[in-house]
Amino acid sequence: MFLLTPAVSGGPALAQERRLVTEIPGPRSRELAERQRAAVAHGVSTTMPVYAAAAGGGVVVDVDGNSLIDLGSGIAVTTVGNSAPKVVEAVTAQVASFTHTCFMITPYEGYVAVAERLNALTPGDHEKRTALFNSGAEAVENAVKIARAYTKKNAVVAFDHAYHGRTNLTMALTAKNQPYKSGFGPFAPEVYRAPLSYPYRDGLSGAEAAKRAISVIEKQVGAENLAAIVIEPIQGEGGFIVPAEGFLPALVEWARANDVVFIADEVQTGIARTGAWYASEHEGIVPDLVASAKGVGGGLPLSAVTGRAEIMDAAHAGGLGGTYGGNPLATAAGLATLETIEQEGLLERAREIGELLTSRLGALQQSDPRVGDVRGRGAMVAVELVDPATQEPDAALAKGVAAAAHAAGVIVLTCGTYGNVLRFLPPLSISDELLAEGLDVLAHAFEVTR
Ligand SMILES: *Cc1c(COP(=O)(O)O)cnc(C)c1O
Repeated sequence: MFLLTPAVSGGPALAQERRLVTEIPGPRSRELAERQRAAVAHGVSTTMPVYAAAAGGGVVVDVDGNSLIDLGSGIAVTTVGNSAPKVVEAVTAQVASFTHTCFMITPYEGYVAVAERLNALTPGDHEKRTALFNSGAEAVENAVKIARAYTKKNAVVAFDHAYHGRTNLTMALTAKNQPYKSGFGPFAPEVYRAPLSYPYRDGLSGAEAAKRAISVIEKQVGAENLAAIVIEPIQGEGGFIVPAEGFLPALVEWARANDVVFIADEVQTGIARTGAWYASEHEGIVPDLVASAKGVGGGLPLSAVTGRAEIMDAAHAGGLGGTYGGNPLATAAGLATLETIEQEGLLERAREIGELLTSRLGALQQSDPRVGDVRGRGAMVAVELVDPATQEPDAALAKGVAAAAHAAGVIVLTCGTYGNVLRFLPPLSISDELLAEGLDVLAHAFEVTR
């Protein structure tokens, strides 16, 4: 059956179907994997060694002609779909006119226009400024720089299960040792860790978990030393942990009362992923600074820090920037991405996808006690897999189910501090049929992984 890419979606007119014509990975992918082993640093590893040839709508087509259902969006990046038509058009026009001048040398409108859009879209109607960068880690680091410049304080608090990137400062902010930190120290100083709200495992209300975290912060760091709190409103790599209601607002309130900058790392949760522009909106919080990346560039490297004008402007002229930050191609893609989300009603689409995901995964949980928890918001949903008798994390099961899904042509990602979480981040351009088929394959993968 050949369904073309649905009209709402992005991408070239690829057949929207799961199609296996070889084993996974196929011979051509295996050949490329050989070349990769000889040429590419082994520290860069791949979840699924299937080499991409084309992608769009809800599929990735590999070099052997297999068509895989994409439930990962290249880690929450291709929210509007791969090669979304407006993104292709905007980038094609931009690449033909100029590719780079460096915004710090001779600026261009695209950068300013993205800043204006993000100032309008991020939570809160106060006066804002934006600075653009290339990666999520770079955005988070710059948010910390800005908070330090503004508060004239040094310490930064991050949380258990946090993931903020792989540069030196963001490794320090990241909680998990393997694979992100092991052997790569020493790490940046003045980074402290507070306990998170993790309802499935701690059973605390949001208020109780916030009280616990604030007590740790006050006793072990001291507000007088603390420049910023950095937190993902829903943790990504850490396991799609949605904090209990009230946890985030209590932290924001405490930060505001104590001259501490509240930084929301919305690199994974932002830009329509959770059914809102930013996940902070679900709890009505207004962060001082927001980091955006992944979904904002439609697949091109673009990231941003957006926040209160007086905080953002505390960094001196020349203190922020970078050769490529807000590159013309990336900003053209960013504007086209934001426009696509608006014109195609993708916030609503993320909520619909969320309902499909949670109802199917909820049913799976009913019939399979190894599914301990189903959680998430919008098109960012995960299942935490456990030993049903003890609730102990079952990483082997997550690995086994993912491997079975991969072999059957479905791209699914794992995550979590304990490696026992399967996460679902489909492109919002996926059709209902394809999503349902992906979940059928997943259910079967659970059956055969006993
Ligand atoms: C992916 C991610 C980052 C790092 O982004 P990069 O672009 O890989 O540097 C930071 N924070 C969160 C929440 C992320 O999910």
